[in-house]
Amino acid sequence: MADLDAIHQQLNRFRDERNWRQFHTLKDLIISLNLEAAELLELTQWKSNDDLRRLASDPHFHDQLRDECADVLLYLLLIAGESGIDLLQAAEDKIRKNAEKYPVEASYGSSTKYTQLKQQSREREE
Ligand SMILES: [Mg+2]
Repeated sequence: MADLDAIHQQLNRFRDERNWRQFHTLKDLIISLNLEAAELLELTQWKSNDDLRRLASDPHFHDQLRDECADVLLYLLLIAGESGIDLLQAAEDKIRKNAEKYPVEASYGSSTKYTQLKQQSREREE
């Protein structure tokens, strides 16, 4: 399997062979990422969780899911490339930040947002 840098280089080559970088402003890349995320979301429209569990073993659905996930990743790579963001480092940093926001003892088995967790923690201290 190729690593993220190799995929990013392949993607830049694909873009540059077509002279498309001129269209890849940060704004339009972010719009495109969100449109692809919407295509991913569309795969779930009108389907229940049970429907989606059943579809997980459907090869056609799996291919669609795979393609939309790839589209999202590719636009994310382009955004990161245009912005000088090291995506893997950013992801590591974000996991660390989330671990601080969601300490296991306060968030285990809970879907409560961190702002609410902080408030609950303050209320317990009072
Ligand atoms: Mg797509």
